[in-house]
Amino acid sequence: MAAEKNNVWEMTLSRLDATMDLLKIKPGMQKYLRQPRKTLEVSVPIKTDSGSIEIFKGYRVQHNTNRGPAKGGIRYHPDVNLDEIKALAMLMTWKCSLVGLPFGGAKGGVIADPTKLSANELEHITRRYTFEIIDAIGPDKDIPAPDVGTNAQVMAWILDTYSMDKGHSVPGVVTGKPISLGGSQGREDATSRGCVYTILSTLKVMGIDSTDLSVAVQGFGNVGGNAAKILYDLGFKIIAISDVSACLYNKKGLNPFDIEDYFKKNKTLCGYSSAEELPREEIFGLECDILVPAALENQITEKNAGGIKAKIVAEGANAPTTPEADKILKQNSIFVIPDVLANAGGVTVSYFEWVQGNLSYFWTKREVNLKLRDIMERAFYETYKFSSEHKVDMRTAASMLAVSRVAEATSLRGIYP
Ligand code: GLU
Repeated sequence: MAAEKNNVWEMTLSRLDATMDLLKIKPGMQKYLRQPRKTLEVSVPIKTDSGSIEIFKGYRVQHNTNRGPAKGGIRYHPDVNLDEIKALAMLMTWKCSLVGLPFGGAKGGVIADPTKLSANELEHITRRYTFEIIDAIGPDKDIPAPDVGTNAQVMAWILDTYSMDKGHSVPGVVTGKPISLGGSQGREDATSRGCVYTILSTLKVMGIDSTDLSVAVQGFGNVGGNAAKILYDLGFKIIAISDVSACLYNKKGLNPFDIEDYFKKNKTLCGYSSAEELPREEIFGLECDILVPAALENQITEKNAGGIKAKIVAEGANAPTTPEADKILKQNSIFVIPDVLANAGGVTVSYFEWVQGNLSYFWTKREVNLKLRDIMERAFYETYKFSSEHKVDMRTAASMLAVSRVAEATSLRGIYP
C-alpha cells in the first residue's frame, strides 16, 4: 500500500514492510512487529496562570519491549499527534536495537506549544501528564527522556511527581535529568556528539581526511545547536543554520556560539548581523558538503531532495526524510546516515545514565564520551559493512539489522501466555 502523503506512521510502516520482506520475516511476526504494544491517550487539564482551565492532550506509546524496558523521549509541540508518536515509538525500538541497547521503544507527547506557556503552566502540564501515565512508566518498564520541546527541567518534574506517588525517590524513572538529580555527564549534547561521530566515520570510509568541509544545519534546538558547535570546534565550516525564524547564511562561515548568544538575547535568529538571511527552505539547496537536518519529520521531501548538493546527509532529527525523497537522494549518490544511527547518541547516553544510576557510580564526561564514541563507531561500521555486503543503502542496512534483532528476541520469548 502506498504511504499516505506525509503521514509519518504510514511511511514508517511502509519502510518496515519493505525491510521485513527483505528479511523474509513470516507473516505472523510481520503483524506483530507492525503494532505498538501499548497506546495511551490522556487528557491533561491544568489551571492556567490567568485562572482558567485548559485541557491538553497527551500520548505515550510503547512499541516493543521484548529486548528490555521501553525507552524514548517526550515531546511538547503543537503538531504532536498519535500517528507521529506511534511512528517515533517504533523508531526508538529500531534505534535501541541497532546500537545494541537493552531497551525497547517508546515515545510520548503533549499537544502544546512550550514557547507560549509559562514555566508554571509547563510544570502543571508535566505533573498531570505524568500522573495520567504513571502506571505505564517506571525504571524497569518505560523510561522517558527529553525530546523536542522538553528538557532536563521537565524530567526533574516527572521524577518528582513519580517519586512522590511511590513514596520514595526514583531517579531511574527518567533519563536526561539534571546532573544534581543523578543525570549523566555529557547527556545534554549526546545526540549531537553521536551524530558527529557518525559523520567522522562516514568521512573515514569515504577516504576524506580533512575537516575543511562546509556544513548546513537545519534546526537550532538541542540537536542542531550542539551539532553546529561541536563541528565548528572540530574545524568544519558552518555555512548555514536555520530554525523556525530564519536561515542564516555566510559562505565564509558562521560562529554558532555567537549565534547562540544572539538567540538567547533575542529569541529569534532574525536580525543576526554577521550573516545573510535566506528564506528558510533554501537551507536544503545550498552548496555544501554535509547537511544535518536536525528539526522535525518530513523536512526533506520530493520537492527539495533533488536540489540537495551535499554529499552527506546526517539525520540528527527523527524521520526527516520521506521515502520519495530517499529515492532521489539515492539516485544522486548522496550518502545518508539514517536517523536511527545518526541520532542514537542521545538514547545511548540515556542508557549510560540509567546504568550509572543503577550502580550509583558516576562516570566523568571523558569516560561518557569515549564510551559513546565506541558504541557509535561500532554501530556505524556494522551498518556500513552490512550495507556493502548486501548492496543496500545505509537506511535499509540499519533497518534490516535492527528489525532482525527485535524479531529474534520476540520469537525467542514466544507469545504470552
Ligand atoms: N528523544 C531522543 C531520541 O529521539 C532520546 C530518547 C531517550 O534518551 O530515551 O532518540
